Amino acid sequence: MSFQAPKGVQEYVPPQSATFLAVRAAFSGAAANAGYSYIEVPVFEDTQLFARGVGASTDVVTKEMYTFSDKGGRSITLRPEFTAGVMRSALEHGLHQGQLPVKLWTTGPAFRYESPQSGRYRQFYQFNLEAIGTEDPAVDAETIAVAWTGYQALGLTQVRLKLNTLGCKQCRPAYRAALQDFLRGLDLDEATRARVEINPLRVLDDKRPEVRAQVEDAPLITDHLCASCKAHHDRVRSLLEDLGVPWEDVPRLVRGLDYYTRTTYEFDHPLLGAQSGIGGGGRYDGLSEDIGGPPLPGIGFAVGVDRIILAVEAENLAQEAPPRVAVFGVPLGEEAARRLFRLVHELRAAGVPADMAFDGKGLKGAMKGADRSGAAYAVILGDRDIAAGAAQVKHLASGGQTAVPLAEIVTTLKERLTK
Ligand code: AMP
Repeated sequence: MSFQAPKGVQEYVPPQSATFLAVRAAFSGAAANAGYSYIEVPVFEDTQLFARGVGASTDVVTKEMYTFSDKGGRSITLRPEFTAGVMRSALEHGLHQGQLPVKLWTTGPAFRYESPQSGRYRQFYQFNLEAIGTEDPAVDAETIAVAWTGYQALGLTQVRLKLNTLGCKQCRPAYRAALQDFLRGLDLDEATRARVEINPLRVLDDKRPEVRAQVEDAPLITDHLCASCKAHHDRVRSLLEDLGVPWEDVPRLVRGLDYYTRTTYEFDHPLLGAQSGIGGGGRYDGLSEDIGGPPLPGIGFAVGVDRIILAVEAENLAQEAPPRVAVFGVPLGEEAARRLFRLVHELRAAGVPADMAFDGKGLKGAMKGADRSGAAYAVILGDRDIAAGAAQVKHLASGGQTAVPLAEIVTTLKERLTK
């Protein structure tokens, strides 16, 4: 019997896994540069955390969670997103009692039971960033700028930023009521009519053409903002302008998770087809209270590593995998294998990436391994070399070969490699 990965799971094997690491490095570099610290949170949490935090009426919570009872009878859910868990952890560890905002980033897999297709997986990878304990619109703009910097660092040129605000506790209820009034007058199917009553903003996000056409004249949140939400939104936009980050105002933009307030945004990529969303974020000023914490505003984003990899490939930016090592040992005989094994260890300790041929391969097979490893130099050692106290150091690109005393190999190679 042979096994395959479970349905809807995306894996990254070499050489593509190099792009996976490059995506993570681009975003973690941008986050660290902006003063965000790393946080590691669990892959599973109490189911109620997501039900309360993400919102009981959302698709994520009603249809997509991987929920199970553990052997102690607790209801456990594999994280469908990071924000609720990061907020829970920040509160539990009292991070919000220190200097504010608490600026954190994390990354790893998230799980949603969705219909798998290109760019939509059941286990997928996110890079997540949160700034907790601030209402300053500059931090909204900062999170956008960090994500933008991440995309730029990868060389992506076609990323688009869509920006909106969802108002706040003061102004959203009146907007919600106006929207509901409008939606109740439309010709909608039963499920959508039910949604109008529970979560009317989500109807604006319906992708079906017959619904889209009808909601074209729906009232817009941007016409219903209270003065402070409007000032907040204007400030975010003017700061983005100062930074030269381009965006498009999309007053119909809503997000799939309930906790969002005020600033919301999405990044998409035009070459990715149906699953074009490569990141999204926004403010979640009510989340802390929703999960039993004190009033504590926050803003953050999650970008989809899998889809960013697709975008990098679509823009032909995937780098060739870097050489695995700089030096490759080619032993001819058992005693040589033993000596080289130790030499390779010493090279590694000296900071020179090194590997060697195993399984008693002959010269030809071992040299092929040296070529494939991407190494700049091969160190060839046979019985005659051992007797002479030297090894043959071969520059693989030019074929040039010199004998180097065994005791000097590490320093010689280090020197040649830094030239
Ligand atoms: P969300 O947490 O829904 O705001 O999603 C943030 C980002 O995660 C999206 O823009 C996508 O890039 C990515 N994402 C969300 N769900 C999936 C999925 N099922 N498969 C792959 N990527 C996803």
